[in-house]
Amino acid sequence: MLSPVDLSLSTILLLLLLISPPLSSRAQSPLPSRSPDEPPTVCIIGSGIGGSSVAHFLRHYSSNPFSIRIFERHGVVGGRMAMVNVSGETFEAGASILHPKNFHAVNYTKLLDLKIKKPSSSESFSLGIWDGKTFVFKTLKGGCKVPFVDKIVSLANSVLMFVRYGFSLLRMESFVESTVDGFLKYYESTESRPVFETVDEMLKWAGLYNLTTRTLQEELIDAGLSPLLLQELVTVITRINYGQSVFISGLAGAVSLAGSGGGLWAIEGGNWQMAAGLISHSDAALHLHEEIESISYLGERYELNSTEGNSYKCEVAVVATPLDELNIQFNPQISIPERKLQHTHATFVRGLLNPAYFGLNAVSEIPELVGTIEDPDLPFSSISVLKQRDEKDATYKIFSRKRMEDTLLDSIFSVRQETIRINWGAYPHYKAPEVFAPFILDGQHLYYVNAFENAASAMETSAVAAENIARLIVSRFFSQEPLISSNLTSDSDGEPVHVDL
Ligand SMILES: Cc1cc2nc3c(=O)[nH]c(=O)nc-3n(C[C@H](O)[C@H](O)[C@H](O)COP(=O)(O)OP(=O)(O)OC[C@H]3O[C@@H](n4cnc5c(N)ncnc54)[C@H](O)[C@@H]3O)c2cc1C
Repeated sequence: MLSPVDLSLSTILLLLLLISPPLSSRAQSPLPSRSPDEPPTVCIIGSGIGGSSVAHFLRHYSSNPFSIRIFERHGVVGGRMAMVNVSGETFEAGASILHPKNFHAVNYTKLLDLKIKKPSSSESFSLGIWDGKTFVFKTLKGGCKVPFVDKIVSLANSVLMFVRYGFSLLRMESFVESTVDGFLKYYESTESRPVFETVDEMLKWAGLYNLTTRTLQEELIDAGLSPLLLQELVTVITRINYGQSVFISGLAGAVSLAGSGGGLWAIEGGNWQMAAGLISHSDAALHLHEEIESISYLGERYELNSTEGNSYKCEVAVVATPLDELNIQFNPQISIPERKLQHTHATFVRGLLNPAYFGLNAVSEIPELVGTIEDPDLPFSSISVLKQRDEKDATYKIFSRKRMEDTLLDSIFSVRQETIRINWGAYPHYKAPEVFAPFILDGQHLYYVNAFENAASAMETSAVAAENIARLIVSRFFSQEPLISSNLTSDSDGEPVHVDL
């Protein structure tokens, strides 16, 4: 989700508009009232991986005739999967990496004939953990053209890691593996896998719910991890992936740690192509530059009104965007637990880091990925090299909780040719225990994909939630699929804070 605060954002959107495929049709004229023989319409608000996956799975699971409309307030599809152009080269500005076991994304890639790109492996990427004064831990630089030398560097780095963190590293790995195994249940056959009416049910069925009731720190201490590993490597990873500390929930933490393992990948040319391809493939009418401002239930149908002054009637409405910072008016009102979004400032700089800022003599001594520990005085979460052109010219990505002001950037960089800032309403601010919004917002046919984002925010978790929403719609609206009850009831201790929208 893009915040309109930074001027540079318009440049990015303009660029994305230019590189969007021609599938992006302009807003179409509103629907007249439906005649009895006209197929029903499913309206989806949001063209990110969540909205596009709902469209895809609806076509996959239902053979009924129906139309799909997707509304997107921006001029491009993809939402938080977006590219940024730095000096004529494009880089992922938001969601950048996929896990090897992100099987929906793997399938989309095959279905849409997209090309896979393997980002430089963590083995050949040097990591440094910066505490504001010194690098408390550093690995060796790889990236040598001779594979044999690279292997030795990688081996040496494993030894360095082991010397500092010991067997705790293995315990961390097994914690991540067991969480990933639970998540894999969401790919089981639909014959044995229930359709879930609530996020709580969905998580309980996979054995993941308890991880949302405790912090990552609590989970990892119980798993036997050393305080040093928690303070350093684990904190570095949660700060990079969610801009937050080890006080996020155990589940969000496990997903974050899984995103730092091996075999990570991305789509060549940009992950947003998954959304573009799915929308096109599911034959949905795409309404770009059409921001939905109100959703009213009229009895059997919903009326959606856009800021363009258009009105659309749909039998089913799906909200596929976080509602937390939006102003959509619901009539009648809906009530969801209050949730804050964590803002992550992504700053892209073409230039050269200043070794003196890090107390070093040469740029080459600065690790390619600088991660940080939790300290309120540290002005950034991470700095990574996106592209090294030559010794004096590179493109960097900085993640921070606050905007990186020019004066600060001028102290971190000795050369700064181009700077682009994006303020993302990035993901939920995680806490434990988490309280989840409903998938079905009104007891009728108004659905909310991003209720699942409190479990963990990722492209694949959005796709998994979207598949469940599509099955819910098929079973509740098209009545094709018998609802397999998971025999679980959602329990909530105490009265959570709700907001009325
Ligand atoms: C900086 C950053 C890094 C990340 N890194 C990763 C990563 O490496 N790997 C990973 O898997 N995930 C990552 N994520 C998380 C991932 O991007 C999200 O979980 C995922 O893309 C969410 O997809 P979505 O479709 O649910 O929502 P979104 O992508 O936010 O899509 C919602 C869409 O709805 C549109 N919209 C909103 N309101 C309206 C309205 N009223 N009318 C019409 N349209 C509307 C928005 O413009 C947007 O296009 C990252 C996120 C950020 C911000």
